[in-house]
Amino acid sequence: MNILIATSEVVPFAKTGGLGDVCGALPESFAKSGHHVKVFLPKYQSTKPFSNQMKKLDVELDVQINGSSFQLSAYSIKHKKLPLEYIFMSNDKLYDRPELYMDLKTGKDYADNDDRFIFFNQAVLKVTKEIGFKPDIAHVHDWQAALIPAYLKLNYNNDEFFKDSKSVLTIHNLAFHGMFPNNRFGKLGLSKNLFYPVSPFEFYGKVNFLKAAIAYADKITTVSKTYAKEIQTEEFGCGLDGVLRERSEDIIGILNGVDYKIWSTTTDKHINHSYRKQNLSGKKMNKVELLNIAGLPHRNKTPLIGIISRLTDQKGFDLIEKIADKLFKLDIQLVLLGTGEEKYETMFKELEKKYKDKCKAFIKFDNTLAHQIEAASDIFLMPSKYEPCGLNQIYSLRYGTIPIVRKVGGLADTVLPFNDSDGTGTGFVFDSYEANDLYSSVVEAVELYHHKHAWTKLMKNAMSEDFSWKKSAERYIILFENLLTEKYAKTN
Ligand code: ADP
Repeated sequence: MNILIATSEVVPFAKTGGLGDVCGALPESFAKSGHHVKVFLPKYQSTKPFSNQMKKLDVELDVQINGSSFQLSAYSIKHKKLPLEYIFMSNDKLYDRPELYMDLKTGKDYADNDDRFIFFNQAVLKVTKEIGFKPDIAHVHDWQAALIPAYLKLNYNNDEFFKDSKSVLTIHNLAFHGMFPNNRFGKLGLSKNLFYPVSPFEFYGKVNFLKAAIAYADKITTVSKTYAKEIQTEEFGCGLDGVLRERSEDIIGILNGVDYKIWSTTTDKHINHSYRKQNLSGKKMNKVELLNIAGLPHRNKTPLIGIISRLTDQKGFDLIEKIADKLFKLDIQLVLLGTGEEKYETMFKELEKKYKDKCKAFIKFDNTLAHQIEAASDIFLMPSKYEPCGLNQIYSLRYGTIPIVRKVGGLADTVLPFNDSDGTGTGFVFDSYEANDLYSSVVEAVELYHHKHAWTKLMKNAMSEDFSWKKSAERYIILFENLLTEKYAKTN
């Protein structure tokens, strides 16, 4: 199969969250099974360290947006062994900026994000045609690539080149729609007749890119089975549950995998002491080092809780806020790494000041530190309000860092509640979005931590879990193949 992947994040070139991790690993898995894969992404400033590996492609095109012409060139990096190529859509005016989506100084999204991603969606289709890569499947991720299914159905429906292409949308987080004022619709280069109340592009008077993909994609996936059900409910549907229910038969949940080449306690480049299930002593040494980095006192018998997260309402920090003083009365230490909403950055900075010997807040994005925290912590806290899949709890499992999670979305699908009577389970799971329920789980975990034998068993259970990409990638491939078979069944 020829698989075209369009995404705004790919590790190691560009990442703000789980989307980057997934789009870094999944294409490799497809290519390993022999499929021909081309991954399209914008050529951001963050790709500069890779400039010397990039080859400029012989394409000079332009994209018209509202009568303005945007120059388009493209660069490529080919995987050394696999049939996998990364293709970077280049226009420095649009992408040569310090951040992917927003101006960190103002905390606001770039005002021209509509132009930046209309350009990207059109560029992908133009370039793939120009280089003769006929996609069997166009696999598009989140709102940033969500116009491609619409363009395929509306602008390219009579184009011989794309006539057999099918599109699959993967929703990594339904909260982000790609919404713009209605007067921007003209920029999409589609007939004005397509914008009217409740049309595929219209959402409460605004233009909504994700809604368009939900309408036009041939199949829709999201990143865990539970989230696939949740998004069709009012509570989790972010206003799109109605349109999702209309596509119910075409929605499937495929759990994200983990790239265990990057997240492995035995080969992690970012940690000084490797460890394994059979010998956990390296983990203790990593803990000592992290406490040094954090400037926290060493307390042998005190569990260290780690948090690595975007600091947003989604992640349940209001629950922590409600019980913070009670939490720090427990014999715990906490290291947080995160950036995001100012109120939470301030909250953790204040907690650091108040509980100097117990709390350290690193307000930054730091991949090395993220690995060090995973390797050093005893417990990982992730009390999300909603969680499409969540990767950090899965990394935590592999690092023997016991997750405390809320039973929601992918957290519910990946963390099995600890069962005292038979020693099964991999973490602590609470149900309702209630601060006191979170508190009870922390108390339970801290108590168990002091039962060395039971805790070690729990760590080993967690470390034995396997969420490698292979299984998940196979599920995507089956979905793609079924789509193509359906197509042939219809034409014959
Ligand atoms: P989401 O995609 O909602 O942000 P996930 O748990 O799926 O949440 O993925 C988050 C990814 O981003 C993980 O790889 C995590 O380690 C990383 N991450 C989040 N915040 C930071 C940070 N401040 N520094 C380094 N890595 C971070």
